[in-house]
Amino acid sequence: MFIDTHCHLNMMVKKDFDTPLVERHFEQIAQILQNAKKAGVEYVINIGTSWQESLNSIKIAKKFNNVFAVTGIHPCDCSDVWLNDAKKIEQWVIDKQENKIVGIGETGLDFFHKPFFKQRQVDAFKFHIELALQNDLPVVIHMRDATDETLKVVVEYKKDLKGVFHCFSSTKDIAEQITSWGFYIGIGGYVTYPKNESLREVVKAISTEFILLETDAPFLPPQQFRGKQNSPEYIPLFADLVAKLKNVSLDELAEITTDNAKKLFALKFK
Ligand SMILES: [Zn+2]
Repeated sequence: MFIDTHCHLNMMVKKDFDTPLVERHFEQIAQILQNAKKAGVEYVINIGTSWQESLNSIKIAKKFNNVFAVTGIHPCDCSDVWLNDAKKIEQWVIDKQENKIVGIGETGLDFFHKPFFKQRQVDAFKFHIELALQNDLPVVIHMRDATDETLKVVVEYKKDLKGVFHCFSSTKDIAEQITSWGFYIGIGGYVTYPKNESLREVVKAISTEFILLETDAPFLPPQQFRGKQNSPEYIPLFADLVAKLKNVSLDELAEITTDNAKKLFALKFK
């Protein structure tokens, strides 16, 4: 079985961000989860990007046995009232068991999407990291065009902090550095893109014990579905390539990456 360790089910079923889910959305999510299960993807970790989408994430996790929530504010959603929003999330984390919160994020730094406010993103990132540390949770890190700045923050906390660099797109050297600190690397469907040879080199270089599989659905579908909406059921479509790069069978890769996810997010299955 596989676990999709980074998915936005809420964004798959509605076009507008930062709006509450309604009943029909939950029906669509049930269908997505059923399709995923048929493809061997039995669990989904659903990632929040704002206070509203984090609340949606908690609601989805509470409704479906096989979904867990990660709550936080995405660096691109870091508004001037981020601290207010983050304090709402902090309250939900107090009841992390009840709310099925298994991690904090996604957080991190993004100096690609404009306009961005560097200091605000750094402040928010540190807030998320401290919240994770206080609650013994991992962080889900988004890092885009900000490798040096992100690692500068992470290095301050690396002794106690655990987490994953999701949608990893940096170099082999950086991958080796962060895995040496015990962090995981999230690999998605974009590993199949013809131009992405550098990521395939990263996958070859790092040990399978640091690899997590993720779709980031609805974004970044594997090559054969480019231009369409991504979905957790597509995990096996690129896991196959990851298995080949690592010289293991698909079953072995499924087992190892599932164990990795269980360990990092301390998942308890019912
Ligand atoms: Zn994401």
